[in-house]
Amino acid sequence: MLKILLTIAVIAGIYFFLIKKPQVAKKRQERAEDEKRKPKDDEDIMVECEKCGTFVSSKEAIIVDGKYYCSKSCAGIR
Ligand SMILES: [Zn+2]
Repeated sequence: MLKILLTIAVIAGIYFFLIKKPQVAKKRQERAEDEKRKPKDDEDIMVECEKCGTFVSSKEAIIVDGKYYCSKSCAGIR
């Protein structure tokens, strides 16, 4: 009887292992599609701070009224 239970447990383990893999792949695909959906201007380019002239990556830059700032203090935010 114990052998049967162990066999079932092993089969269940393999079953879940095989089932989980495609789900991970699917999640990766969804993430890749999210990346595609992002606008092109989200690319990592260097922009100049409007106030102090420091170059900062567009991802880290703070945009106020269409102008780029290197930090919150330059942008006039606390
Ligand atoms: Zn600045």
